[in-house]
Amino acid sequence: MLDDTDGWLICHECGHTYLHLTHLAQTHDMLSETYRAAHGLPLGVPLVAASVQTRTRTQWHAHADLHMPALEEQWKPNTAQKGNRPRSQWTSCDEQDSLTNP
Ligand SMILES: [Zn+2]
Repeated sequence: MLDDTDGWLICHECGHTYLHLTHLAQTHDMLSETYRAAHGLPLGVPLVAASVQTRTRTQWHAHADLHMPALEEQWKPNTAQKGNRPRSQWTSCDEQDSLTNP
């Protein structure tokens, strides 16, 4: 489980605290999925502190009337689906599959 101490995340690579782990690629040369696999974090665990998630969610809902038209304008499910890699190619997924299906 990702550590969340007093609203901050502790990076398992460098031990520093962050609100979101956006430094992984630049500082540790890791993708988020590589980081998750290296530290046994499930795909669903966000690399953002709970305090930031709550604030973002609250602000989004407060301005949903402004966001929804922009989202609907950008809504292109066929284009998005073409860009997705199959789940079987996710590094973290491979790790989890080998744990559950040895
Ligand atoms: Zn770090």
